[in-house]
Amino acid sequence: MKIGTKILHTGKETDPVTGAVSVPIYQASTFKQASLDKPGEYDYARSGNPTRGALEEIIARLEGGTHGFAFASGMAAISSIFLLFSAGDHLVVCSDVYGGTYRVLTRLFNRFGLDVSFVDTTDLQQAAGAIKENTRALYLETPSNPLLKITDLAGVASLAKEKGLLTIVDNTFMTPYWQRPLEQGLDIVAHSATKYLGGHSDIIAGLAVVKDPNLAREIKFIQNSFGAVLGPQDCYLLMRGIKTLKVRMEQHQQGAMAVARWLQEQPGVKEVYYPGLPEHPGHMLHKKQASGFGGIVSFRMETPELARQVLERVQIPALAVSLGAVESIISYPLTMSHAAMPPEIRQKAGITGDLIRLSVGLEDPGDLIADLAHAMSSI
Ligand SMILES: *Cc1c(COP(=O)(O)O)cnc(C)c1O
Repeated sequence: MKIGTKILHTGKETDPVTGAVSVPIYQASTFKQASLDKPGEYDYARSGNPTRGALEEIIARLEGGTHGFAFASGMAAISSIFLLFSAGDHLVVCSDVYGGTYRVLTRLFNRFGLDVSFVDTTDLQQAAGAIKENTRALYLETPSNPLLKITDLAGVASLAKEKGLLTIVDNTFMTPYWQRPLEQGLDIVAHSATKYLGGHSDIIAGLAVVKDPNLAREIKFIQNSFGAVLGPQDCYLLMRGIKTLKVRMEQHQQGAMAVARWLQEQPGVKEVYYPGLPEHPGHMLHKKQASGFGGIVSFRMETPELARQVLERVQIPALAVSLGAVESIISYPLTMSHAAMPPEIRQKAGITGDLIRLSVGLEDPGDLIADLAHAMSSI
């Protein structure tokens, strides 16, 4: 089955009890046992809930994994994955990682003795050079946020195998529709399902997927112990969102490509970052490991003043944090998604005042371009 079919036919799309063609919301915190020594499949809903179970099975199958886990947010999923490690362990993390991931590592997990090095993982030699005696894992985003840099998934997988390290990929920007890291030898996939998987700016949710039974047992233990689980209503909305993932992703990409090409022609625009452009340094590598380019386009204006004016004058995209929704969202990484990064680190990562990130929604691309043209021309 192709991924477009799998999205709708995962084996968990109907309710096994009634045959309802959408999974019901089991709004229950506990489940009655048949007798004292006969516990059922479900007991207490932190440990498991049928609505959540259906979602977890769906994301596992879409990512090509065996076990999925649903969390209260992308950060809850990512933080729960970090709970696999112990004081004294060291992680190698890509340098332009999501701001919240940077914050949780440098301001919370550091308190518990988890040591981190941030490196440009697009250069595998830099990644290899950062590995220490106590390194336990490599953590990356490809394309990265917000500069859409591409890291070689197969290269990272073989480096990690050689050194006995776990590999973790935040697959939020691509979704399993375009890219499936587990199939390329990586160990753990994390998602902010708030973004493309949910797709409608109406929930905060996170997911993790693995294919190794021991790793699955450990994450299940953390999910149940730490307890940052996703509630049944949000599980339902997320499953509803996933049903249209294929058509949304195709359309986001078509719009993003049109906007990126148009931006390249504009005199006020200094640089355009979109992996679908043949000029993008990671274009060929990305094409090898993913089947599409996604809907996020970042670009640099000639000056920070011009960037701020564009952000203030556009009318169709919402000026907001977040991405991956049906409506276009425009953001200013400097003060929004990456505000939690110290200025000198941000500067080094290229997240400066001239940079804009646009999540291209499902509007007619011609209207988006006209809106951007108006915002630029009135400067
Ligand atoms: C938004 C985002 C997160 C955090 O997810 P939340 O659902 O907001 O907690 C993590 N990684 C990436 C790439 C994101 O865009």
